[in-house]
Amino acid sequence: MKRTFIAYNLVLILLVIIAFLGITFSLTNYVSKRQTASMLEVMLDDTVISYNLSELSDADFVKNFESSKRRISIIDEAGNTIADSMMISTSGNQLSYPELMTLGKPYSRYSESLKLNLMYIAQTAENGKYVRVAVVMDEYIKFSEQTVLLLVIISITIVGIAFFMLKKTSNLFLKPIKDVSTSIKTVKDGDYQWILPNSDYEEINGLYREINQINEQIVNQIKTLELRDEELKLLLSHMQQGILVIGSDQSIILSNEKSRNLLKLKVNSEIIEIRHKELYQTIAKATQVDTNVDQKLLIDQRHLTIKITSVNHRILIKDKNPYGVLVILVDETERILLENNKRDFFANVSHELKTPLTAIKGSAELIHYDMVSKTDEKILSKDIIYQVETMNSLIQDMLELSRLETRPKLELEVINLKSLLELVLEQLQSTAISKSIKIAFETEDMQIKGVISDFRSLFKNLIENAIKYNVDGGMIDIKLYKKDAIYFVVKDTGIGIPKDQTDRIFERFYQVNKTRSKLQNGTGLGLSIVKHVVSYYKGSITVLSELGVGTTFTVMIPT
Ligand code: ADP
Repeated sequence: MKRTFIAYNLVLILLVIIAFLGITFSLTNYVSKRQTASMLEVMLDDTVISYNLSELSDADFVKNFESSKRRISIIDEAGNTIADSMMISTSGNQLSYPELMTLGKPYSRYSESLKLNLMYIAQTAENGKYVRVAVVMDEYIKFSEQTVLLLVIISITIVGIAFFMLKKTSNLFLKPIKDVSTSIKTVKDGDYQWILPNSDYEEINGLYREINQINEQIVNQIKTLELRDEELKLLLSHMQQGILVIGSDQSIILSNEKSRNLLKLKVNSEIIEIRHKELYQTIAKATQVDTNVDQKLLIDQRHLTIKITSVNHRILIKDKNPYGVLVILVDETERILLENNKRDFFANVSHELKTPLTAIKGSAELIHYDMVSKTDEKILSKDIIYQVETMNSLIQDMLELSRLETRPKLELEVINLKSLLELVLEQLQSTAISKSIKIAFETEDMQIKGVISDFRSLFKNLIENAIKYNVDGGMIDIKLYKKDAIYFVVKDTGIGIPKDQTDRIFERFYQVNKTRSKLQNGTGLGLSIVKHVVSYYKGSITVLSELGVGTTFTVMIPT
């Protein structure tokens, strides 16, 4: 901008100077020529009068003028120069020269004989000859050339001075513009800087102060808006409900992460992208008809309660439709699953307790009413003990599961896993012996920080299962070792688990073969407990099994 400003003004100054020089030069030229012409006319009259009165020969007459600056020529009627004050003789017809063709009128032309520029004027004398007077113009031309040179030098000097002055003035005028634009840019970049009102001109300082004030107001407003925006974002992102604010043209004006996740929407998407047809239609309709509905929909396996309300507010009206729409989505999936789980759990528990209780009641009644022999009484009381043990196992497992789910704050302790495993094996040894099952185990000394009952349950349930679901005279291979993590592997040569059920065995109360499990005092909760423990310690459990060949459980616990 600065360059343009200077260039523009310099061109203007140059044009003015050129015009000034042109006019001055033309005027001077014209006036000088006019003066010379007038002077020549007077000279001619003088010379003609002197010539008419002179009794001298033509040559002598012109001789009188040799020392003067004028050139006097006498030309006869045939156009021959008879006498000339500057030349001895000339030849040729001069009648075609303009000064002889139009008498009494001055003409400027180049003299071939003198090799100079002259101004001529001629008149006829009384004797019929032509008297011609001329003055040399070269001096005048030289003077003009000098004048032009002088004027050019003066012009260059003026342009030079003008250039420096313009540079100074442009700085003066452009600096405030530059300062203001820099300051506005800092507002835009969020790093606002004051303009120091340090100009030499009070008017410019006044401008600076006003711009500072305006910028400060803008900065404050931007900050307030940013704060509001952040508050809104914080609120929306932490809401348990999904929120969608939709314009009357069905554009999504506002959405929080929850709503986008539930409806699988991208940021800045349109409601057209809502893939659930029924929901899409209800929202679209709510932009046209005043609506206030609650819908319960299953979208992508999630149970959603959706409240759709038409809102007539100017910020939501984007086209001819009269309403914007507010959509609130509540994800009820967890609650419903929890309720279902609870219901299933109670149904399972009552069922599991009812069976031994009915058996106990039956046996007890038979004994009570003396309906059995002494020997059968023994058998029945043994069955009562067995049923009570089943119930006891069930209650123990339920208590353990409840402990794992509620996780009371227990002090973590350093557990020696090798000693704990040996202890559990010792407790289960008699059951294994009763089925002639051989147990081989390899362990390393290792320690972990945790809750001892967690690892006792883990070891006990997996080894107990390997005994329970093994064949008489079977084998159990147990390994406890540490590599990148702690590994606990229990391999048995038992009945195995069908492939399609290996995932389900970790569900509560799931048993592959209920009758067989019942005979083994199984509760269907052992592997749920194991899974709980493993996931609490951020580990994993895998199962490999082949029907009739055996099963291997591998637990990995990161250290
Ligand atoms: P349960 O108390 O009935 O043993 P679990 O939760 O411990 O309950 O196990 C669930 C089911 O998984 C068992 O009923 C059984 O059918 C199957 N299962 C568990 N461990 C083994 C195993 N080592 N071999 C074969 N089946 C097994």
